[in-house]
Amino acid sequence: MEQTAERPARSDRCRDGLATAAAAAYRFSRKGSEPMERIHKKSALAETSTLLLAARDLGAELLWGRYERQLPLCAFTSNGLSCRKCFQGPCRINPFGDEPSLGVCGADRDQIAMETLFQATVEGVMESARAVRLLGVAGADEDFPDVSRGLSPETAERLSKAGVLPVKRDDVLGVQNSFFSHKGYLSQTLNDLTRLGLIHYGFLSQAAAALKRAPARPTFYPDGINVLLAGQVPAELIQAIRQEAAQRAGGKRVNLFAQGTHGSPFAMAAADHGSPELALGMNVDALIVASNASWPGIEALAGKYGVPAILADGRSLCETAAEAIEQAARHARDALHEPSVEKIQPAEAGDAPGLPHERELRRALQSGRIAGAVVLFGEANAKQTFFERTLALMDAALAERALVFLGGDLGAQHAALGAEIARRQGAQLTAFAAALAEDGLRPITSFGSAFEFPSVVSLVSALRAGSGSHPTPVVVAFPEFFRASTWASAVSLLSLGFTVQIGTRLPFWGSPWLAGAMKTEWQKITGGTFLADPALPEPRAQAAELAARLKAGTGR
Ligand code: SF4
Repeated sequence: MEQTAERPARSDRCRDGLATAAAAAYRFSRKGSEPMERIHKKSALAETSTLLLAARDLGAELLWGRYERQLPLCAFTSNGLSCRKCFQGPCRINPFGDEPSLGVCGADRDQIAMETLFQATVEGVMESARAVRLLGVAGADEDFPDVSRGLSPETAERLSKAGVLPVKRDDVLGVQNSFFSHKGYLSQTLNDLTRLGLIHYGFLSQAAAALKRAPARPTFYPDGINVLLAGQVPAELIQAIRQEAAQRAGGKRVNLFAQGTHGSPFAMAAADHGSPELALGMNVDALIVASNASWPGIEALAGKYGVPAILADGRSLCETAAEAIEQAARHARDALHEPSVEKIQPAEAGDAPGLPHERELRRALQSGRIAGAVVLFGEANAKQTFFERTLALMDAALAERALVFLGGDLGAQHAALGAEIARRQGAQLTAFAAALAEDGLRPITSFGSAFEFPSVVSLVSALRAGSGSHPTPVVVAFPEFFRASTWASAVSLLSLGFTVQIGTRLPFWGSPWLAGAMKTEWQKITGGTFLADPALPEPRAQAAELAARLKAGTGR
């Protein structure tokens, strides 16, 4: 952390210099007063408390403890006002209008905030590109499938007019934040952001095409040995683990659970209450830490739980796989799991529904049994109470008779989220579910990783195409997330002309101008609507915004 910003004595300049909405985002603390980022309840899911108490009894520190020690967060970086683009810096801009107002090179607040936004988007695109490569799919180095397939004609026409279609894999080498060079290049930069969104969607489409050819999803064995993957390991390592398991697991079957940048089709998504740190408190027998895992502290935590951690490092795949299986088998044999310990479960367990068929959706729409659809995608973030905002949005969507599609790590928790919503809505949800049963639909369905976004986009685009003069309202919300690749998915959906609601405070709003431009200019290019504000609304206020979109029938 570089520096903590506190309100300067000349607060009159703050009042004068910033727009009211943006100023709400700049409530920096005086020493000893409440920090801008609050310490809060850890999870909205009551069942998580068992795991939290078990971790406390063990003396294991989870991510919330580390988050609290970071408070108050650095105000320059959390507003996108620090720049590390070159080695004359790092530079920072005073958020209150005081000096410094320019970087060494002369870049101002808007240019530096735009650079932060652009770099975060590029990083997200690269995360997904690497994930596609790790899938080991044939043709990963070939060009993208035609991303305009599955889009509404209106959106395809808009994007073609903007010159961003067709999109090719090599286009990633040509995009840049020209606005940093000169503000006269704004439209070029916004076009390049749109192009980045489409490039990202191209990578997702490439993975989606490959996954259609992937073998059937793995089976869960309740008495099996449980291996948790943090991050994404190469597909070849998964194959090696399966081979070694047949020889070294003492006749037991092995369950491979994933929690990483993207779930692998060859492993099961873990219903882990939102974090692999919590999953370690379930009956996990070994942890494999991939080179792209986002939890540098997880090996030390695994040590606390007595769970062996294995690196997918430079050894041969067979050596790594053999070590993982031997250690996991030993742990399963020797570890004493208390009967009360929550068992790790796959998200796909039981009767988890996948995406519905277009025909059934259309029938429900025509009969008036559903009024729209809401896609909720993301992963829990320590800055917010886990799943609180997701639950608020689910509640609002279902009350408006919109179907809810949960994806990403939110999709992996659909059973717990569904149970919590049933508790909150009671008879209302039961009645909606009974009405939908006529169409073979359920109020809440889940899909997998971002690689399934192309299927979701095709489904809702077809729905819209068939809804005549009253377009079906569809909102894609990202209520909680921390990964750059999830932000890139949001940019993709905006680029495809969707209404996109953001429920995490974005680190770009040090420029009130940029916050405004993102709303107005992006809509002009793609037709998409960006629902995000410098001051993140409370979950219920954001749920009301979602409900208003559905009511107005202007979700998309
Ligand atoms: S503001 Fe300019 S000089 Fe400073 S780090 Fe960024 S690019 Fe370099």
